Amino acid sequence: MDLSFTEEQDALVQTAREFTRKEVIPRAAHFDETGEFPREILKKAWETGLMNIEIPDVYGGLGGSCLDNCLVQEEVSFGCSGINTSMAANSLGATPLLVAGTEEQKKKYLGRLTSEFGFCAYCCSEPDAGSDVAGMRTRVTRHGDDYVLNGQKRWITNGGVASFYTVFATFDPAMKHKGIACFVVDANTPGVKAGRKENKMGQRASNTTDVIFEDVKLPKTALVGTEDGGFKVAMKTFDRSRPWIAATAAGVIRRSLEESRAYSLERKTFGVPIAQHQAVQFMLAEMAIAYESTRLLTHKAAWLVDQGDLSSIVSSYAKAYGADAAMRCSTDAVQIFGGYGYTKEYPVEKLMRDAKLLQIYEGTSQIQRIVIARNVLGGK
Ligand SMILES: Cc1cc2nc3c(=O)[nH]c(=O)nc-3n(C[C@H](O)[C@H](O)[C@H](O)COP(=O)(O)OP(=O)(O)OC[C@H]3O[C@@H](n4cnc5c(N)ncnc54)[C@H](O)[C@@H]3O)c2cc1C
Repeated sequence: MDLSFTEEQDALVQTAREFTRKEVIPRAAHFDETGEFPREILKKAWETGLMNIEIPDVYGGLGGSCLDNCLVQEEVSFGCSGINTSMAANSLGATPLLVAGTEEQKKKYLGRLTSEFGFCAYCCSEPDAGSDVAGMRTRVTRHGDDYVLNGQKRWITNGGVASFYTVFATFDPAMKHKGIACFVVDANTPGVKAGRKENKMGQRASNTTDVIFEDVKLPKTALVGTEDGGFKVAMKTFDRSRPWIAATAAGVIRRSLEESRAYSLERKTFGVPIAQHQAVQFMLAEMAIAYESTRLLTHKAAWLVDQGDLSSIVSSYAKAYGADAAMRCSTDAVQIFGGYGYTKEYPVEKLMRDAKLLQIYEGTSQIQRIVIARNVLGGK
């Protein structure tokens, strides 16, 4: 067993770390405060080769692995998980094409992401269907050889900035998961529009909007996979993307630990640095354990994805464990900072607000446990 990285991976981590230090950390508080979209930072990330990591080189991408993507995402999330989510949402939007797209679709859409700076988005969730993916209401109907799409998606990361969307829609809600298909839709298609932008608690640098489809005519070439295969495409996408959320959690935990360590060595109570109080030491120790555990699970999950094992339960372990650990560690970081932790003077309150999202998107912590429990009990 060899847990070391390749020279290329070490170089990738160094590039991402330097980018985060120079571009992300100094401006993270601004984008958190204003909720503006950090377009210039993301453009630099794209120019530096830190976006669209897993797009194969035949489509102009880096041809990186899921592990490569995780290594970058941990680094960027150390600086700002909201900015990282904007970058990761491109990978999320592109993954249905990697999983089930035709050669033409891959050339056109993946090629667009690598040849010009821009965004895509993954449109699955709806106002009344998040965890219950098979309960979606966005309808698709056949018109001769073509399709017509009608419905509303909610919570779509990059929804207001994407040039194309991968969209899940049902031929008949009564058919549940068997009725769902996936489509690739250009944002400038008549009838497509981004709706309201969410005013979020955390990860405020990411753009989250509704996306609305009104009588959108699509050619048959817009179908990704088969007419009854959309649910599987959505689930396979999550199997590949959950390690990224765990990597994001690792970045948040490492930042919580580093900020807490530095502060606890400086801040004095009762004549000694608070780092000398065992209660504080134990919180630091728990963070160190959580960081190492999250990273190991993340890397194992990513490694399995890279071996082609898309049915692995480890992606769910990593996502559930990492998200909960990031929430716990960032909350403890605020605790270690005391009253100062509760203010915007220090970055730890932002870590806590940002971490909460990790327990919600791409399958909540409860949904991960349902998946894991089913696996433990041997069911489907
Ligand atoms: C900022 C942000 C960005 C997002 N980005 C995207 C995106 O890019 N694309 C996209 O498609 N979606 C995106 N989402 C949507 C996200 O995936 C959903 O919010 C999530 O899946 C939960 O769905 P919901 O909000 O409808 O909650 P619900 O499904 O209504 O769940 C509400 C609560 O009930 C619990 N619950 C639900 N069912 C069960 C059950 N069977 N057993 C136990 N507990 C249960 C949940 O865990 C949760 O605590 C994003 C969400 C947010 C907030």
